[in-house]
Amino acid sequence: MKHFKRVLVANRGEIAIRVFRACRELGIRTVAIYSKEDKYSLFRTKADEAYLIGKNKGPIEAYLDIDEIINLALKKGVDAIHPGYGFLSENPDFARKCQEVGIEFIGPTAEMIEQVGDKIKSKLLAESLGVPTIPGLNKAITSEIEAMETAAVCGYPVILKAAAGGGGRGMRIVKSEDELLSSFRTAKNEAKKAFGADDIFIEKYIDSPKHIEVQILGDKFGNIVHLYERDCSIQRRHQKVIEFTPSLTLSQEKRQKICEDAIKIAKAVKYRGAGTIEFLVDSSGNHYFIEMNPRIQVEHTVTEMVTGIDIVQAQIMIAQSYPLNSKEIGIYSQCDVIPRGYSIQCRVTTEDPSNNFAPDTGKIDVYRTGSGYGIRLDGGNGFTGAVISPYYDSLLVKVTSWSRSFEDAAKKSIRSLKELTISGVKTNIDFLINVLNHPTFLKGQCDTNFISNTPELFR
Ligand code: ADP
Repeated sequence: MKHFKRVLVANRGEIAIRVFRACRELGIRTVAIYSKEDKYSLFRTKADEAYLIGKNKGPIEAYLDIDEIINLALKKGVDAIHPGYGFLSENPDFARKCQEVGIEFIGPTAEMIEQVGDKIKSKLLAESLGVPTIPGLNKAITSEIEAMETAAVCGYPVILKAAAGGGGRGMRIVKSEDELLSSFRTAKNEAKKAFGADDIFIEKYIDSPKHIEVQILGDKFGNIVHLYERDCSIQRRHQKVIEFTPSLTLSQEKRQKICEDAIKIAKAVKYRGAGTIEFLVDSSGNHYFIEMNPRIQVEHTVTEMVTGIDIVQAQIMIAQSYPLNSKEIGIYSQCDVIPRGYSIQCRVTTEDPSNNFAPDTGKIDVYRTGSGYGIRLDGGNGFTGAVISPYYDSLLVKVTSWSRSFEDAAKKSIRSLKELTISGVKTNIDFLINVLNHPTFLKGQCDTNFISNTPELFR
């Protein structure tokens, strides 16, 4: 077993703070990196040490400079790097370089990231294991003719996806053959620009599905457990807005089947660390694997609330070579994962719902939060006087509730959001409250089109 003395977090905002907290609780010293644009950001003050990186780089590029980050980590005697989500978290080269210089990457191996991080490769893997996938051609489309033929076989509408896509980007829905060629060309160009790779594949577009995903934890000794599902169907432009657990609509049988399928995929790659296996469930209740995310996810909080397992601490313990069944992690078998109650996470962002969710920027004049029993706040850069810059993700704070019933959890979320007072920048708080009050939400029946099909949420 290793004992990390210093951990560097190669990230910013709320997830950096989340990891610093986990490290502190484990007695580990924390090291932050920050770009010049983040000089006054809150997260860097939450670490024991903080260093400026990317002096001559742009605000995003600063957090993507593998060599600079690794050199800094070596200079500061860091034992391990936590990549958070986004940025370098799914970059196999980063994981590999860490390993080469003797720094532990808190996550799966480079080979595992390569195998499961690519949407085409992971779909092929799922298929080979008998896990249902969405009908389509599971390889990169090489020509316009192939695109036409595949779409015709799937039947319209179809969805074009970038193999390297993520964060709801790199997808295009195509309703008819007329749109296919131009969409295909645009998708390829967009993918090249956004992800540096233009592999596009095609699958059937599932009408009004639910997004159900399974949290996985695996250690370095081949032990793997699931931490049950999250329902992440409340989305805007394929990006999650509100997530909760457990799902209110899955039968016990279906839940078990989906969790077993997730375990099958994780076992096939001997997955280690925290990961998420994502599925779509159609209106007839059929489930299909869509992708695997080999990293911590924004919505891990709801799973922590119902299982009592600190997923970020578990990631760190796993990286230190503790088995799941050690007393430190305390998951001796699947039976030790016992979910209790209901949890809902709302992503409060500095976006203006009345203006097509355009990100707002500027100085926060007032920032007052509402915590209290049953509420957990994972803050990023919000405080009175903070300046919200246009450079990064607009996530301000995650409001996560827990209660014994779903309805009570929703009430706690609404109460907390009503107490949350932010002025100086626009936020989506009122919009979130409208969703939480909606009868379809309270029945747990929202599908991925709920927001776009429900204009009253915008009032
Ligand atoms: P990303 O990696 O960008 O998050 P995903 O593959 O996880 O992309 O898909 C994100 C969301 O896009 C899903 O939750 C769902 O709403 C929508 N989506 C993806 N594939 C399909 C599909 N074949 N049919 C319908 N919706 C889809």
